[in-house]
Amino acid sequence: MAAPTAAEQRWLGAARDFFLRALPGPDGQEAAALEAVLRCLRSAGGGTLPLGYSFISISDLQHQQHIPCCSHLSWSTNEFKEWSRQGQGALPMQSTLPRTYLILVGYLADGRQENKEKLVDGCLYVKDKTGIILCELLHFKLEWLESLLVFPSWSYIPQRDQSAAGYLEILVDPVPVNGPKEVLHSIPVTSAVSAEPLLTSRIPYKKRSKLTVAGELTRLGPLLRIHHKTFFFLFLKCFASAVCVPVLVQKPSQMLWHRVFQLGHRYTVTGLSMSSMKKSGQTILVTSASSCLLPYCAEQEREQPLNSAWRGESTQSSCLETAEQLSCSLQLGAEEEKSGPTKESRIISYVGFVTKVLNAQAGLFLLDNQVCLCLAYQPLLSSARGLRPGACVELIDVHLLQKPLASFPFAVLGACLSSMVVLKSFSRLSTPYQPVGSSRSLCLQLLLRFNLGMPLYLWLVSLLETFEERFSCFFGRSRLLSSTHQNPGAAAKFLVPLLQAMVPDRQEARDIYNEILSKIHQCPLQKYLTLTPPCQAPSLSEVRRVAEQRSWEGFSPSQLLSPLEAQHMGTQELNRRLAWSYCTFSAESFQPQLILLGVLRVSSRSSSLQLQDKSSKLPCVISHKDGSPFAQTALIGSLLLVENYQLVVERFLKTDFPSWEHLENLEHVREKKTSVYVQFYLEDVRVLHAAEGRIQKSLRSGNCSSLRKSKDGSTASELETPEAKMLKSEDPRADDGRDENCQGGQSSSTSCVSQLFLVIQKESLMLRNYQLPAEEAKEAQELQRSFQATVLWLGRPRLWSHPREIGDLSELEETGCDGKEGVMQKEALLLFVGRSLRWFPFLHVEGLYRCIVPGCSDLEVFDKLYFPPVPSCLLCLPVQDSWHLEHETWISCLPEHQLTAMSMQTGVEQRAASIPEVLSSSFTGSLVSFCGEIVERTLCASPKNEKPPVMTGVPKKKGTPQHFTLLSTDHSVKLSISAASSSPVVLDVYITATYLQHLRGLLPGAKILFHNLERKISRFHNVYCTYIASSCVSIVSLPASHLPFPSGPAGEASSPSLVFLCNLRPQLSQARILCHLSCVLTVCLQWICSLCSCIFKEGRCTRHNPPCPSQTGVRQASARVLVEDGTGEAVVLCRNEHVAAVLGLSLLEWEAVQNCVQSRGSVCIQHGEAPGTGCLEESEDLVVCYLRSLCRSPLICRPILLDFSLDRKPSKILQPAPPQLRNFRCGEVEFVSRVGPRPSLLCLKVEEVGQDALRYLNSQRRSRTSSSC
Ligand SMILES: [Zn+2]
Ligand SMILES: [Zn+2]
Repeated sequence: MAAPTAAEQRWLGAARDFFLRALPGPDGQEAAALEAVLRCLRSAGGGTLPLGYSFISISDLQHQQHIPCCSHLSWSTNEFKEWSRQGQGALPMQSTLPRTYLILVGYLADGRQENKEKLVDGCLYVKDKTGIILCELLHFKLEWLESLLVFPSWSYIPQRDQSAAGYLEILVDPVPVNGPKEVLHSIPVTSAVSAEPLLTSRIPYKKRSKLTVAGELTRLGPLLRIHHKTFFFLFLKCFASAVCVPVLVQKPSQMLWHRVFQLGHRYTVTGLSMSSMKKSGQTILVTSASSCLLPYCAEQEREQPLNSAWRGESTQSSCLETAEQLSCSLQLGAEEEKSGPTKESRIISYVGFVTKVLNAQAGLFLLDNQVCLCLAYQPLLSSARGLRPGACVELIDVHLLQKPLASFPFAVLGACLSSMVVLKSFSRLSTPYQPVGSSRSLCLQLLLRFNLGMPLYLWLVSLLETFEERFSCFFGRSRLLSSTHQNPGAAAKFLVPLLQAMVPDRQEARDIYNEILSKIHQCPLQKYLTLTPPCQAPSLSEVRRVAEQRSWEGFSPSQLLSPLEAQHMGTQELNRRLAWSYCTFSAESFQPQLILLGVLRVSSRSSSLQLQDKSSKLPCVISHKDGSPFAQTALIGSLLLVENYQLVVERFLKTDFPSWEHLENLEHVREKKTSVYVQFYLEDVRVLHAAEGRIQKSLRSGNCSSLRKSKDGSTASELETPEAKMLKSEDPRADDGRDENCQGGQSSSTSCVSQLFLVIQKESLMLRNYQLPAEEAKEAQELQRSFQATVLWLGRPRLWSHPREIGDLSELEETGCDGKEGVMQKEALLLFVGRSLRWFPFLHVEGLYRCIVPGCSDLEVFDKLYFPPVPSCLLCLPVQDSWHLEHETWISCLPEHQLTAMSMQTGVEQRAASIPEVLSSSFTGSLVSFCGEIVERTLCASPKNEKPPVMTGVPKKKGTPQHFTLLSTDHSVKLSISAASSSPVVLDVYITATYLQHLRGLLPGAKILFHNLERKISRFHNVYCTYIASSCVSIVSLPASHLPFPSGPAGEASSPSLVFLCNLRPQLSQARILCHLSCVLTVCLQWICSLCSCIFKEGRCTRHNPPCPSQTGVRQASARVLVEDGTGEAVVLCRNEHVAAVLGLSLLEWEAVQNCVQSRGSVCIQHGEAPGTGCLEESEDLVVCYLRSLCRSPLICRPILLDFSLDRKPSKILQPAPPQLRNFRCGEVEFVSRVGPRPSLLCLKVEEVGQDALRYLNSQRRSRTSSSC
């Protein structure tokens, strides 16, 4: 051998250093050990030392290597390239493991020496003096244990995060440095006497009879751990009898045997005793502490006679399927699928490459991109190390389940306890390792607890995946998923009730021994039913998307209008009627049923409640079933589940339809927008994760400090409070000026000051011009979105050493006895601007709240911030961003003694009026509060005299809600409010579009409490209300969920009640009379221009100055008729299609008449007019003649059933008519009667009355008249 070169010298020096540092030789024999290792390396390298490689210690590997890598001693570059190339077969896009030039030398250990307490679980480690690391081998020999080994070829997969420890994949068998040991000596033999034989207690007889069994390994069960004991079963086929013997291996030192066994090989196991299973009575062999595993050697063994228990049992393994065969059989199976609901899984064997880890926690892997491997039914104690994409696995006797879950795209290979999963080769790709779920993983826990079949398990996994994806950023993964029986986490609270509903009578628990040992195979994977998921809980962005899609599905503008009405509408009205519509969906509207999940948030930007997940936010409206408003501030930040809700999609359309005839031409739809929100009752909510205790605390102790902590990165991101996150995402400047809010550096203290108050009045959210003292200089001119509330301070501010302690309402007592003292009952105006706008949805009149100043000990904190308001003498207090409001109770919920003290003080008895009261002419007062149900919602042009509030010239601020921007600001909505759903009395409320932005839930069917509306009287003496700056609303109840899909604006109402003309009351909205049509006073048929409403004649608008470009005319008709019902007389105004009905024309006749008018522009006739007078047209005109004769015909005078509303507008004009004497004729007899002024009615519907119906109705009338008179 040549003298070592300088390079060799250096290398050898480094090797020596490494040995001293990392490898503990047997006392003082380090030099010999080094020599032995060098000998090994030389022989591997063909006589030369691997100078291009360097030694690496375990600890250096773990701390310096952060990406997966591999090392191959003595490989040429080409060899490595070829190896890499082959490894890419399964996943060509994936990069291969990068090569390092490292020499790994160490001992193999099973971990017992390192940690005596440790449960031996069959894991193998490589260790040196510096550390210890898990490793995986494809083959293992017992003699390698505790001997010094050189690892010629290996991959290192580093730890990715806390969940996955790094490990080694040993690609080529290690080389023992000191040559092979004596095989027999490597088996740890413990004294049979000292070790307490486990079985002796169970089998009192045959105590000392130890057996030796030899045979071919036909099956190897998985390592199992039950009650902190690890064990496995193996099955040996005896040569002589061809029966299969189950052997239970259970001693800790024997767990490594599991790695030694290879199917089809022959083994001898000594020191076995017989035992029988408690439950089934089946006989098995059990290893003792003295048992040895020996390779089979024919000369040495003498088979002992076996118990007849095993006779006749033989195993037949399924034949191996390749990927191609499997895809064939999958196709076949797909055709067979129709055969029946319950399917039997086929047992197959399969070899394939892992191409994707579908869900490591749930034990789901994709093989060959076509079939899913599920390991969940086979607990894997090795955590599936090595099952990285690119690895090859052999599956023996696994269940093939075709389409177990409708929404799962793959067929599934399910490994049960009698299946074998063998790693055939390690991955050569640089793919990370994800550990499979441990027994603590929630899905595996639930799998065991409910003994789930594959379909339910896959569904559970998909639900859990989405759940985790959506909410772990708020609460942290562990907090969300952690689950114990006593203290279930949010995910368990969500899933367990679903599973309980799905698996009502839980099948008996899995009998794992039976599953492994039974002659007839029994396991949960044998039979299955394709599951159609009963419900879904998709992300909020998906909910929004689906709802929007559904709302436009099959939508056509004509649905929103009744064709009879639409054909008479001018352009403006037509398009306005289309501009705003809505539809609602319930959970059942979706297939599968849709469950809403979200974190309750409140946005200061939109001042609305929201459900939020990672993907999106969904505004929400929450009510109580008892009608009280939602004020639970404590729920902010909680994770809610809602199964019963109404998902509302408001549709906004910008259209320019010239007339109804163009409705089918969707080119006229210029813009479509939607706004989606959800409304539900708090009683229908399940809180999966309560925020109280964490968020509340952090909020109270001042989120300034918590924010700062997370900013400098010292706090893990998952510790961030959702509130803090919301702040960040909402407004990047939220942190500005934080210090001022925290009252001068007291933020670190936990003390806080609170003040109890009662809300007396809450005003609407709008742009106001405040001049807050602090901001005088800069933004004095700018309008700010704000709201204000008049409150009554109750008691004095109180100091608390910790927010946790805030509790009792002793301020009230204080108030009660000290009531006269001025300080105690100060009224103040709270101003909410900026971030404090988030309290808008929570603050309600008659609510008792506590205002908390976190991190503050100054009892005069409130006094210092008051400032004199501009005009009034009320004290103003701007609510600071950091302050927290907490709802305590309602004034109505207080015990009587507190209540009386309070009402003495407040004095402001806020009583809601009833709708009839508001309508009555004797009502005084301009601000009214009342409660009622929305009957109808219509968009109308703002009355000209009511200018929209100061919106012009205000630059649109970023972040103002966009959903109403499609409604032009000169629009307003008219809400028709009735006292109860059946009540005919209706009050109209007008709300301009600017206020609508913050008012969700104003839908027909909803019951609303209006506060402080302005009561107005029109020039026709009609009472109506408008929503003004001081108004607010709260939703008392949501529309009934069975509300039909709103078809038209009117909806199908039940027929109105039958009345008499003599007792019409002015508040009446709709009614029906049975009457006689006395005569037709006027009829007017016109074609008018759809744009300018001038007469439209022969296809052109008649307006000339300036000329009108319109191409479209709209026909309109009106008629005035006189009716009487025996108790009175009325003038009825009929429009459009009602004219045809009242004239008794069929639709065809009516069509023809209207078409005749087209060339004339307009045709009018009047009752009693002489032929040829007073009419635009010549008397000879055919249409005029026809109409006139029609009106004069005695046939027109007939009984009709008339639905009407009071025509309020012209009432003033017709009013003065005094009671007069009139002639009536009944048959041959004439009567003279005194009659009141004729009421004026608006025709809503005309029905012909047949003779039978007439008789019936008359009898009804008679009975009612007699009973009422
Ligand atoms: Zn099975
Ligand atoms: Zn015109």
